[in-house]
Amino acid sequence: MLLTYIMVGLCLGSFSTAIAYRVVHKKSWIFDRPLDSDTPVPARSFCPECHHQLSILDLVPVFSWVFLGGKCRYCRTSIPARYPIIEACGAGAMVLFFYAGGKDILSLSIFVITLPFCLAFFQLLYLKSMPPFYMFGLFFSNILALLYTVV
Ligand SMILES: [Zn+2]
Repeated sequence: MLLTYIMVGLCLGSFSTAIAYRVVHKKSWIFDRPLDSDTPVPARSFCPECHHQLSILDLVPVFSWVFLGGKCRYCRTSIPARYPIIEACGAGAMVLFFYAGGKDILSLSIFVITLPFCLAFFQLLYLKSMPPFYMFGLFFSNILALLYTVV
């Protein structure tokens, strides 16, 4: 059970880095608009340096970064350590929630849905980028869901 929380936390942390990147670059985090057509396609993760689309092996939280030596598999550009750190923070937050007794479905759902935005919120502050308005709401919902289970 705890392992499931950790895995989910890692994935949410990974998702949060994508949200932060797309907010900073003013891109939609649901759709991409390809250069050669007007039809939006579902957003996929890519290397910001060489624009190579990332495969599932490049997207395993923390482990991909460690195995690739913190570099892009395609262009060998360094990937900042903040990526695996944020993924680990996601896992840490889920472990905290687990031990806080966060097992009822309502607080768990709210916590899981808002966690990636909460983590993205911190990354945007770190990147000195103003988080969008909706992110403040999701950030506080996340903190409230955690407080609700602790208290
Ligand atoms: Zn690359």
